[in-house]
Amino acid sequence: MTESTTQNLLKTDAIIIGAGPVGLFAVFELGLNDIKCHLIDILDRPGGQCAELYPEKPIYDIPAVPVCTGTELTERLLEQINPFHPHFHFGQMAEKLEKTPDGKWRVTTDLGTVIEAGLVVVAAGGGSFVPKRPPIKGIETFEGKSVFYSVRKMEQFREKHIVIAGGGDSALDWVINLQPIAKRVTLVHRRDEFRAAPDSVLKMRALVSEGAMDLKIANLSSIVGTDGQISGVMLQEDGKTPHELACDNLLAFYGLTMKLGPVAHFGINLHENLIPVDTATFETSVPTIFAIGDINSYPGKMKLILSGFHEAALMAKKAFAYVHPDRRYRFQYTTSSSDLQSKLGVADAAE
Ligand SMILES: Cc1cc2nc3c(=O)[nH]c(=O)nc-3n(C[C@H](O)[C@H](O)[C@H](O)COP(=O)(O)OP(=O)(O)OC[C@H]3O[C@@H](n4cnc5c(N)ncnc54)[C@H](O)[C@@H]3O)c2cc1C
Repeated sequence: MTESTTQNLLKTDAIIIGAGPVGLFAVFELGLNDIKCHLIDILDRPGGQCAELYPEKPIYDIPAVPVCTGTELTERLLEQINPFHPHFHFGQMAEKLEKTPDGKWRVTTDLGTVIEAGLVVVAAGGGSFVPKRPPIKGIETFEGKSVFYSVRKMEQFREKHIVIAGGGDSALDWVINLQPIAKRVTLVHRRDEFRAAPDSVLKMRALVSEGAMDLKIANLSSIVGTDGQISGVMLQEDGKTPHELACDNLLAFYGLTMKLGPVAHFGINLHENLIPVDTATFETSVPTIFAIGDINSYPGKMKLILSGFHEAALMAKKAFAYVHPDRRYRFQYTTSSSDLQSKLGVADAAE
């Protein structure tokens, strides 16, 4: 088990790309095999599709859990892996994968986090979640400068006049979180109905009636500004002529879509945007790189959470041989192995 930091370089045993349900369970299986992990996800929280696409929907086919929502499943997985203290790097895209001169893997994210490990586990599901771009001509020249699709540092918006566009959870959450520090927040949505959690909608409406923020029911038709700096947005309200609303930043939350993204350039064999694997080990065409969950393909594959859990267990067995070449793998049950129970911190309770 190795883990250390040299300046900005993080070192661990395994880098897991994707913190969806399968990436999370991989932490558990690797942990039982004395393998430490760092996880990277472009989302700002764990859970992958369960958290992003169906947090409130019931799932009925998790073994021994007759029903739980996407959020509950994620919470239970986090509790289960807690004994292994995984390190999460959220809001970051795993962009580059390189081999180091000493045969390890180095993963670099778009925020400049650099992690080195002997193993890489690609648990990238249907790909990385990327924001849908609003249909506004020329918006790309403002992106990352004054127009954003996610909030990475709240401080950047202190004392700014912000327009937030959208009607879902992300838009409403950021309205509520940024309103106290921004100079002024204006929420722009095309209709006076919101998909966000009812509690968030109530909070937003209360802020509007207190006069602490503005709500505009309108379409964003264009952006005004130069050299990447926005100075306003043009709003098209029903039955009115378009008018300009001055602002320093536009935060647009028009939903997310999944794209394979950088994984396509990792040098691993792909077949129809999926990663073929050996079903005994879930290793890819590149030794020490594994692929589990929705991202992999093999004869008979079913894109179900329970398939990914099984794959994580077999992956961890092969991973053990790489990380601990001097140790013999022992098959053990958590019910009866005091070794596994002490790793889980339940040794006393199990006696
Ligand atoms: C509406 C709906 C209902 C479903 N219902 C069920 C059900 O009832 N039962 C069931 O078993 N399954 C169900 N599924 C399928 C299930 O959600 C997936 O099988 C499961 O989420 C796969 O888990 P995963 O961890 O492999 O991938 P994902 O959940 O897709 O997570 C992958 C993560 O990797 C991240 N990622 C990818 N590439 C990168 C990168 N380069 N850098 C950083 N992060 C990256 C993504 O952002 C994502 O968070 C459902 C799916 C949907 C859409």
